[in-house]
Amino acid sequence: MIVTRFAPSPTGRLHVGNIRTALHNFMWARANGGRFLLRIDDTDAERSEERFVDAIRSDLGWLGLTPDAEVRQSERFALYQARFDALVAAGRVYPAYETAQELDLKRKILLGRGLPPVYDRAALTLTDDQRTALEADGITPHWRFRLDHAAPITWDDLIRGPQRFDPVTMSDPVVRRADGSWLYMLPSAIDDVEMGVTHVVRGEDHVSNTALQLQMFDAMGAPPPAFAHEALLTGSEGKLSKRLGALGLDHFRAEGIEPQAIRALLARLGTSDPVEAIDDAALIATFDFARFGRAPARFDEAELAQLNAKILHTLPYEEVADRLPAGMDAAAWNAVRPNLSAVKDAADWWGVVEGPIAVLDLDADDRAYLADAAQVAATIDWATDPWHALTGALKATTGRKGKTLFLPLRRALTGLDHGPDMAALLPLIGRERALARLTLE
Ligand code: GLU
Repeated sequence: MIVTRFAPSPTGRLHVGNIRTALHNFMWARANGGRFLLRIDDTDAERSEERFVDAIRSDLGWLGLTPDAEVRQSERFALYQARFDALVAAGRVYPAYETAQELDLKRKILLGRGLPPVYDRAALTLTDDQRTALEADGITPHWRFRLDHAAPITWDDLIRGPQRFDPVTMSDPVVRRADGSWLYMLPSAIDDVEMGVTHVVRGEDHVSNTALQLQMFDAMGAPPPAFAHEALLTGSEGKLSKRLGALGLDHFRAEGIEPQAIRALLARLGTSDPVEAIDDAALIATFDFARFGRAPARFDEAELAQLNAKILHTLPYEEVADRLPAGMDAAAWNAVRPNLSAVKDAADWWGVVEGPIAVLDLDADDRAYLADAAQVAATIDWATDPWHALTGALKATTGRKGKTLFLPLRRALTGLDHGPDMAALLPLIGRERALARLTLE
């Protein structure tokens, strides 16, 4: 059974980058008949906020990525403590007493000598007596995970291919602060074990964390999950932009972007497959980490808007009915949807159908023409195809064609120069309103 998890920290709203990660976790689980879990990484009580937890849930819900289960790290401290105690007993986690200033100084000295600023493990050389003395002085330790230096750390990343890190060049990571609070690294690895996570899908900013966490899995005697580290998103200018980090679902929602458009774009961005206006089944069927590239993927809002329009133009009435103005039925939706870039704009066209509409200036010629049109409109069959009946008859009697035939009618009937296909719109406007609009006095 494939199990993925999306693990946001509730310290802010989701942005397009982590929404993409959530989507990929969701799709991989769905593509394999697996489970998609939400893990709220709220070990940092000070920075985590309940309103962001709620926002994460509602954003995922709106996007159609409802998790199969949810866990919260803040409810799992007992679990972390038990694993921590076992790792301390096994000598894989050890107390360290340096202050932040001391560590900073050590780093500067190493950097000054042109050496990598790797922690020197001085704490490992302390005797029991020295530790007791430090603690008697009121110094409480923070805790580090002792890396095994014996062999390189390797894994075959599902996106990045073979990866190799030399643990000798890495500092033993601090896993717990002196006040007992947890840093991200160890609880995450513990949860991945306890939750049975088989695939960790996250941004490539976590690649070096993975090297460390692989040793944690090993120290816990647990088989590691597979890893897929995705290239980050860049803005349309090709740079990591501040704007991208601030773009959340609120913004897209306000712009009238459909969840389906976001799913379709973010599922394919950065892959070798084209971005297409296709449904989830098709997206899931082609979803594969092997298709992801290592270059940063470009997120372009204009591309999203275009895709959104394409998706809108095929969206069935049932999916939008509750967002349409009262009275707007399937025929009306089908008539106006080719002209929409957002569902909310359907109301404008419904206003055109129901009226009142603006009365445009018309010259004497067109006024005479419309007077004819009003008469013809009173005689045609409105039940089947009034637009072709009307224009067919007017073409024969007036000799007008093309724009001169159609445009004055469109202007009088809708108050606009452009808009949905008149053949679809006129039956909605109906005989009574049409006759009134063509009769200009
Ligand atoms: N809370 C971490 C983050 O948001 C989770 C990383 C992970 O997926 O392990 O970066």
